[in-house]
Amino acid sequence: MNVLFPRNMPQLVKALGEPGARILAGGTDLLVRLRAQPDAKLATLVSLDRVAALRGVALEKPGTVLRIGAASTHAELLAHPLVRARLPMLAQALATLGSPPIRNMGTLGGNICTASPAGDTLPPLLVLGAELELASASGTRSLPLADFLLGPGRTALQPGEALTAVRVPLPEPSARQHFEKVGRRDALAVAVVSLAALVRTGGKGAITSASLAWGAVAPGIWRCPEAEAALVGRKLTLSALNSAARIASSRVQPISDVRASADYRRSVTGNLLLRLAAL
Ligand SMILES: Cc1cc2nc3c(=O)[nH]c(=O)nc-3n(C[C@H](O)[C@H](O)[C@H](O)COP(=O)(O)OP(=O)(O)OC[C@H]3O[C@@H](n4cnc5c(N)ncnc54)[C@H](O)[C@@H]3O)c2cc1C
Repeated sequence: MNVLFPRNMPQLVKALGEPGARILAGGTDLLVRLRAQPDAKLATLVSLDRVAALRGVALEKPGTVLRIGAASTHAELLAHPLVRARLPMLAQALATLGSPPIRNMGTLGGNICTASPAGDTLPPLLVLGAELELASASGTRSLPLADFLLGPGRTALQPGEALTAVRVPLPEPSARQHFEKVGRRDALAVAVVSLAALVRTGGKGAITSASLAWGAVAPGIWRCPEAEAALVGRKLTLSALNSAARIASSRVQPISDVRASADYRRSVTGNLLLRLAAL
């Protein structure tokens, strides 16, 4: 197998034009999959390791958007003061992703492009309204993350294209952010259910908007507009959250698998909402 190490964007998009080229970021998903399928025919791996333009975090649009390079590692993002201060729900998700070695190697772009229903960064990025920047030899385009994720392991990434950056609108500091993952153990836990929530309240404490996204309960990240609507206009109390939790538990249709039964997932889908009372 051929492995290419482009050093800049022109070299990267040229390398991606090679027949059968596949991006290698941290390798924590891809190499596991390749080991499981030794016969997989991969002509060329294109490493992102030396493309500096794909790393780093910068404020854009006078402080309202954070641009995150797709090859930034989870550990780099977790240590970044702006991510910690302005995107605490993303930081919470990164802190529970894998283990220190996985966070040191794995990248945000790799987590997004793997498109796993249990991918920890996906629920927070969806409720935050993240936009993706994609580049190929024919130019660049942007796409909302919601339109990029097409199903388990399926994305709108075109042949020859790379995810170059993730643009995250920064919620105002008064917005309440929360991420929680329930797994079968504390470390190296794949989500059994996860929830990301972004809740805004008005002057008298009434909820003006609620964005909720659950991981690992559906083939993709699951949204429940009815539960969101049930919160709007009410205060963030246990009674309001109980109403939304009942709606979410009754609508979700999870599967049973080696990690949990469908019934357990259904209860946890609702129960995780009750945590928002402590925000
Ligand atoms: C032991 C272990 C524990 C794990 N625990 C968790 C966990 O708790 N939560 C979780 O969400 N995940 C977990 N993972 C999965 C994995 O670590 C993450 O999904 C990680 O973010 C993948 O990033 P990567 O850089 O290693 O991707 P890679 O493995 O390099 O790539 C993954 C896929 O994305 C493509 N790709 C990568 N970057 C780009 C890009 N910029 N543009 C276009 N395509 C790209 C690759 O071609 C490949 O198809 C775990 C994995 C292991 C091995």
